[in-house]
Amino acid sequence: MKPFVPERISLASGAGGRAMRNLVESIFLNGVTSPPGAVGADAMDDGAAIPLGNQWLVMTTDSYVVKPLFFPGGDIGRLAICGTVNDLAMMGATNVLGLTCGIIIEEGFARSDLERIQASLQAACAEAGVHVVTGDTKVMARGELDGVVLNTAGVALCERVVRDCTLQPGDRLVVTGTVGDHGMAIAALRADVGIEGDLRSDVAPLRSLIAAVLNAVGEGVTAMKDPTRGGVASALFEMAQKSGVSLLLDGPAVPIRHPVRATAELLGIEPLHVANEGKALIGVRPEALETVLAVLRAHPLGRDAAVIGVVTSGRPGEIVLDTGMGKRLLHEPEGEPLPRIC
Ligand code: MG
Repeated sequence: MKPFVPERISLASGAGGRAMRNLVESIFLNGVTSPPGAVGADAMDDGAAIPLGNQWLVMTTDSYVVKPLFFPGGDIGRLAICGTVNDLAMMGATNVLGLTCGIIIEEGFARSDLERIQASLQAACAEAGVHVVTGDTKVMARGELDGVVLNTAGVALCERVVRDCTLQPGDRLVVTGTVGDHGMAIAALRADVGIEGDLRSDVAPLRSLIAAVLNAVGEGVTAMKDPTRGGVASALFEMAQKSGVSLLLDGPAVPIRHPVRATAELLGIEPLHVANEGKALIGVRPEALETVLAVLRAHPLGRDAAVIGVVTSGRPGEIVLDTGMGKRLLHEPEGEPLPRIC
């Protein structure tokens, strides 16, 4: 059965969940081919991997349409660098050769805001240890675009590609820190509920954190994905479906900051469904678990790392949530509850 795509594209088709996957599978993968031996677009992983001698060339690209452009903890510039660095890292590619950055600006946009975005973007590059090596600038007429849109792409090398479809029964599921911070910070700003003071986006480059983990345990890491749009729930569904495994998720073990939980309740949004921009989900072989946790917790971006579940061999793609008071099946979210989160 062909995946459903509406006659006219809705915001849901960009929200990172099933609706977006349907759009990509039924339109953009049509006629797509991949170089021999490559992890290509049809893999729908965090990036592509092309064999290059005895290494892999990893590429990824992402566009940024976040609203508002500036938010507690970051802005569109920091987001554009971290998003691409993190997608490369999720493929195991922490040796970053360079990034590109394209920008489309609406006529009338303030120069001071562009300067602010550029300064933040460069600060994020310095923090991540990466460089923007080429770019592109376009301007559209007033009203033809909302403010500014960025696109970044990244190229990196690695010896071993880490996929999102290679979880194995018995793997432990590790999240590198608290869940829901980015999406909930944006949601609170947009809802104007006056509680956003306690909320900050977690947007951060995971390059050194992931490099440390891979250096320590190598193939002890079986799979990785960053839980961006659609949150931890969407990312886990994708990993489980593509790996043909089921997951047992330990609800109370999922680290969620108090203000995130409180805001989620107020707004009626499930924290597991909202975007993170500085977190990774990692499948870990049981014998590597202690080392992975120690390495993560020794890094400033991994202090709150936690084991949140285990991979099982039940029905493929099924996620059982243990709430602490009972078990129930988790439903796959349609996608991010709010559009334009990243
Ligand atoms: Mg990703």
